[in-house]
Amino acid sequence: MQQLSVLFSAALVFSVVAPASQAATDTFPAAAELAKMTDAERHAQAARTEVWTPVPAVVSFDQQNVPSDAIPLLGKDLSAWRAVKDGGPAQWQLKDGVMTVTPGSGDIRTVENFCDIQLHLEWQSPPADPAKTGQMRNNSGIFLQEKYEVQILDSYQNPTYPNGQAGAVYKQTIPLVNATKPTGQWQVYDIIYKAPRFDGSKRVSPGYVTVLHNGVLLQNHTEILGTTEWIGPPQQQPHGCAPLKLQDHGDKVSFRNIWLRKL
Ligand code: MG
Repeated sequence: MQQLSVLFSAALVFSVVAPASQAATDTFPAAAELAKMTDAERHAQAARTEVWTPVPAVVSFDQQNVPSDAIPLLGKDLSAWRAVKDGGPAQWQLKDGVMTVTPGSGDIRTVENFCDIQLHLEWQSPPADPAKTGQMRNNSGIFLQEKYEVQILDSYQNPTYPNGQAGAVYKQTIPLVNATKPTGQWQVYDIIYKAPRFDGSKRVSPGYVTVLHNGVLLQNHTEILGTTEWIGPPQQQPHGCAPLKLQDHGDKVSFRNIWLRKL
């Protein structure tokens, strides 16, 4: 019995060793010792694991709830975007803060390159054409660093292969659930992306993506296997920071309130 209580005390000593770096190798009083201390002595012990720097920067919000450290990607014009096919001005429509795909004009990408980001984006499917089903119903997509697609699709009552539905890492990872609101309603994506790292031609760590759709988790720190390919497996293509790309899949999908934060 005595042996057991000694073991228990030892476990307690271990369990109160603090994770804070300066205290990680120090020892702390066990519960029995703490119980005998004064309040001031216990507070002094507690203070040993308080870390006071760095102090996180303060973020405020505008009327649209955009954080003050975000980069807005939709303003009064489309100057943050370029047409992928010729590098010229983006030919998509912009009206009252809502950008809509001009079918046939091609994909658009940001002027600026990005690495790790937190992305907020709202999208809306136009009325569903009953003749269009599956992948043909209001398809677009967000290509992280131009290479890795988080699918945009009108997945409301619209079966398709699940690794191609809304919120899929296209042709790689099926979303955890289908959180698509009815056609015509605005859909909200919040995406956290960690870019893959390369050392020359070798990938030294994969990319990861977390996707929330209308506040619901679809991708939970999902490993990105490689480039998005329609036909064939993902490929490894070394790259650095790169633009965000939006897909023209021939449907008049709309976007609003696009912003990102560099991580
Ligand atoms: Mg797509």
